[in-house]
This record gives sequence, structure tokens and C-alpha cells, in this order.
Amino acid sequence: MFFDNNTFKHGVRIEGHKDLTSGRPIEVCPPPENIVLPLSMHIGAPAKPVVAVGDKVKMGQLVAQAQGFVSSNIHSSVSGVVQAMERRFLPSGALSECLVIANDGLDTLDETIEPRSTGLVLAPKEMRSLLQSKGIVGMGGATFPTHVKYTPPSDKPQVIDTVIINGIECEPYITADHRVLVEYAPEVIRGLKYFMKAVLATRGVIAIESNKPDAIALLQKLTEQEENITVVSCPEKYPQGSEKQLVYAVTGRVIANRALPASVGVVIDNVATAVWAARAIKDDMPCIERVVTLSGDGVQRPGNYLVRLGTSYEHVVKTCGGGIKEPLVKILSGGPMMGFAISNLDYPVLKGSGGVLLFAAGAPITTQGRERQCVRCGHCLDVCPMFLEPTVIAQAVKARNWSAALQANVASCIECGSCAYVCPAYIPLVQHIRMAKQFIASDGRGGHNPLYNIKD
Ligand code: SF4
Ligand code: SF4
Repeated sequence: MFFDNNTFKHGVRIEGHKDLTSGRPIEVCPPPENIVLPLSMHIGAPAKPVVAVGDKVKMGQLVAQAQGFVSSNIHSSVSGVVQAMERRFLPSGALSECLVIANDGLDTLDETIEPRSTGLVLAPKEMRSLLQSKGIVGMGGATFPTHVKYTPPSDKPQVIDTVIINGIECEPYITADHRVLVEYAPEVIRGLKYFMKAVLATRGVIAIESNKPDAIALLQKLTEQEENITVVSCPEKYPQGSEKQLVYAVTGRVIANRALPASVGVVIDNVATAVWAARAIKDDMPCIERVVTLSGDGVQRPGNYLVRLGTSYEHVVKTCGGGIKEPLVKILSGGPMMGFAISNLDYPVLKGSGGVLLFAAGAPITTQGRERQCVRCGHCLDVCPMFLEPTVIAQAVKARNWSAALQANVASCIECGSCAYVCPAYIPLVQHIRMAKQFIASDGRGGHNPLYNIKD
């Protein structure tokens, strides 16, 4: 049984712009001369280097060890020599220590990697251990360490009956997951089976947005003999791929504010995460690459590329995308709804990097109307998938009234951007919400954004 026609309440319909790349098969990006691996490319504690400058490393070798349970291992995506350890900004604005590794071009594989003929013989505990040791994190952008989701807390055991593979990919322009579904379909299913075994779930669901009919037909065909696995087509609506919204669409279960899907018996993971989990468990392969969409009218050759982690966006654009189209006026790391605007291409591809978008002058996305007074139209309330009042939060932030922002439930905002998308007054509602979260988390001192200057 599915709910509300396999969708959620509220949300927005947005132009997908996916035809630029959805039909372009995944191509392998040639490895770069150097890779940059941030020690914080996941949620949780930064990993700690286990190599030093001057050390030789092999492809797939552990180079930074997870610190604590909510953290993740990092492996080298090339063989070569550790060249430097330096601090760099990430697209999100966060600063991270990074390992810089010079590629020797040999791709010498770490000899401790030993593929298995099947992963299903492993016990759930062994599967979880491999997810942890191979550095698997949510590749849909959240980068939450995957092993944590599949490890029930010992003090609060939870029965997980359903695993959902999230193949929605509702961000405009991004088609990496679409291509993963079509080209790596057997591994998507294998990953789902491993996930189900890891938590002893009895039901698996692969949820795909209806704008990917080829992926839906293929996955349905490949799973027709699988009694416990269903492929669900969800209507095109943003943010259908958000965890709470998709869990509701598929199961009808409502996740409480600030609770996890496990609280309603569900674990949900992105399609790329399923593929790289399958490779970790069966092939013993750590996460050292991912599929990235390069799109927008500011790149010569949009497409989907399999890229080694740590490769610079600039390398991907030059070697795969054929260079930029001038005059380039906007670059986004991620999609237009939840991604980050960046000023140059000197950022590395990380485990959560689904796309890089480039836009030339004149593209509608490059123009932004001037912010005006709220006209109290209520559109932001009508679309908010979390049933919040974004305009109330924005007013609280402008007044620096953090308790009012808390009362308006700012912490529940998933920063989907739907409210800002429909606001006729061009109020940057999500920026206000992010600022509120930063100020509240840092006890009113402005988080990592002390220069924020509230106008009005
Ligand atoms: S308030 Fe938050 S959750 Fe609601 S629409 Fe705006 S960004 Fe999305
Ligand atoms: S959509 Fe914009 S103008 Fe309309 S109520 Fe919300 S904040 Fe105000």
C-alpha cells in the first residue's frame, strides 16, 4: 500500500532540465595528477591521517582513520606519494584539513583488497563492519556514515522492517543517480539485499521518480522474481527525495521532528550508496570514486562522469566537459535547490558530490530579483513540506529573536529551498534559516558566520 499517490503533502513542481544529460552514459574521467582528500567529507568527526607527507600509498589504501562511531574512513583514490597536508575550504564554506596525493599514474591496488564471490553469506555484523571500514557514507549529499544507520542502538533496539533505496533525484539538472540506476542496476539490487540482511528487514523498496521511465522499467524487470522487493514510481515533485517525505510517500509513516527514519522502522539510502555498499561488501572495494553530473549551459559538453574522489572540478570540466563557455557567471556545487554557489572550480569531488553546474550569462538561473517586503501571500507556507512558517522564521531572524525562531521550529527545516523558490518578494528565506541555525547552535554568536549582517 502506498500513500497520497506515492507522494507527500506540499512541495513544488519545478522544471527538471535533465534532458541535457539524462541520456548520456557514464564516461570515465581520466585520473588527475593530484588528488585532494578532505578529512571532513562526511557527517561526524573528521578522520585522522594514518599516512605522513612523503609516504607512498596505493589505490584503495586507508589514508585517514575514522574517529569514533559517527565518522568515516578515507582511502586513496590513486597510487602515488603524499605530497602535502593543508587546510582548504569546501563548497559548503567549511574549512577542512586535506591530504594532497601526487598520482604516479600506475593505479597500484592495495593488496589487502580481496573480492568475495558473494556477499550474502556474510553475517549482518560483518556487513556493517565492511560498510564502516570501507568508508561508505550517504552519497545522495547527506554523507551520513552508512554503518551507523544499520547499527541499532544497544540501549534502544528498533525493529527495522523496510529498507528504501532512494532513486528520486529531484534536484534539477542532476542525473548521476538516473545513470547509476540504468547502468549499475544489478548492483543497486545487490546493495539493497545486503542492506536488508544487515538489519534483517523483510521488505525492500526502490523508489524512482516518474521522469525516469527507463530506470523504472529496468528495475521492475530485474526484480520481478524478488518477492520482497518492490519498485515504486513517485510523481515528479520537489523535495520528493528528502528522507521524511519519501518515507511517508512509500510507507505512510510520519517521522517525528528531529527523529530518524529508524524510529518508524525504516532505513533509507541513496542508489549510489547501495552500489558502493555492494562493491564494499562483495568486492572488498572502498569508496574511492563516484558518478558526477556536469551540466548547465556554461559547459561545452554536459554529461555524467565516473570521477576519482579528490579530483578537482576544474579537471573534470577541462578533460570531460571540453571547457567552459564564456562568459561564465554562475557555478554551483550540487543542484540549484540545495547546492552551494562557488566562485571557482578549485574544489575536489567528494563522496557527496552529485553534480557541478555551470551557467553562462543570460541563463534564467543567473538572474535574481531584488529583495522586497513580504507581501503576506502565504505561498511559502503552502509549499513547505515540513509545515513550517518560513516568513515567521525570517522575521524572527531579522529581529535577532532566536527564541522566536526556535518556537517557529527552525530546527525542523530541511533547507529544501521550496519556500524561497516560490517567494514573489525574493526573500532569501533559506539563508535566514541557515543563519538562525548557526546563531542558535553557537549561543547567539553567529556560528561560523560572524560577519552576517542582518538588514531590514
Ligand atoms: S522552511 Fe525549510 S523545509 Fe520549509 S520550504 Fe523552506 S527550506 Fe524547505
Ligand atoms: S512567500 Fe515571500 S512574500 Fe509570500 S508570505 Fe512567504 S515570505 Fe512573504
